This record gives sequence, structure tokens and C-alpha cells, in this order.
Amino acid sequence: MSTHDDRTASRAPHLCAAYGCPMVGTTTSSTQGTNEWWCWLHFAKDAGRGQRITAELHRLDWLAKAATDIRLLLKRPEWPAAFARIEHDLMLANRPDLRWTDGESERQWMERLERELSSIIGQDGQTPQQQPLIATSQAKPDHGTFSRVSISPPQGATA
Ligand SMILES: [Zn+2]
Repeated sequence: MSTHDDRTASRAPHLCAAYGCPMVGTTTSSTQGTNEWWCWLHFAKDAGRGQRITAELHRLDWLAKAATDIRLLLKRPEWPAAFARIEHDLMLANRPDLRWTDGESERQWMERLERELSSIIGQDGQTPQQQPLIATSQAKPDHGTFSRVSISPPQGATA
């Protein structure tokens, strides 16, 4: 049984350099010529976090693929078919709110899908078990409501 695929070796040049990542590489840290392009989710992430992000992208492939297809296929002959497939996938995923809305440019639509992907995966690629799936208000621990719990026994409580 082989679980290893040679995705890296055969990776299409437009894809993110992270192993197995299905996204388009759009960002590089190099100012010289390079073929190491990263998607915005993987850019500047360490390897461990990057692997979690990749796993999430595969779990959310309907959304990752939708955003990627818009980026790659917009204005191409394949676009009408891709558009229909994306809309279909979003309905199948029970996310009709993510479908293209009237008055929105395709680019704005793509950015909305990418934002949704980011907010589900989390800014630092934490697993969604640690992140609320619906609430995306970036709630931070509020030190103002932090109450200290005393574990010392009450004074004078001698037996
Ligand atoms: Zn990536």
C-alpha cells in the first residue's frame, strides 16, 4: 500500500509550494526570481502548522477548489462550466450564502470565499476544534473578566 504520492515532484508550477496544497501560489518571500510561491494561508507558516493547514484545505476542498477555480479560470473558456460547478458545490456544502451575489464582481466573490476559508481554518492554522466554526469575531481572552480561583484552604479551619 502506497500512501506517498509524488505531488511535490509533479506539482503544477502555479500551485502553492507547501506539500499537497491545492491552492494557487500567490506570495513569495524572495525578491529574486524563485519558483517557491505560497498560497496566502501557507505563507510564512512553519512546517507543522503548514501541514495542519493543508489537511484543513483538503477537508474543505469544496471551498478551496471554488476559490482556486475562480482565480484560475475566470475569463477563460472553461469559466461558464466552472461557475456552474462552483455554485453547485456550494449548494451541496449547504452554504448557499457563499454563492455569487448580484452586483458582486467575480474578484470580490473570490475574495469573499478566501476570507471564509481563512476564518474557518483560523489565522494561525489552528484546527477548527479549537476554533469556533460559526463565530468568527476573533474573540481574544479578556483579562478584565479573568477571575482568580483560590485553592488555599480557609484560614482558621482547623479540625
Ligand atoms: Zn498553500
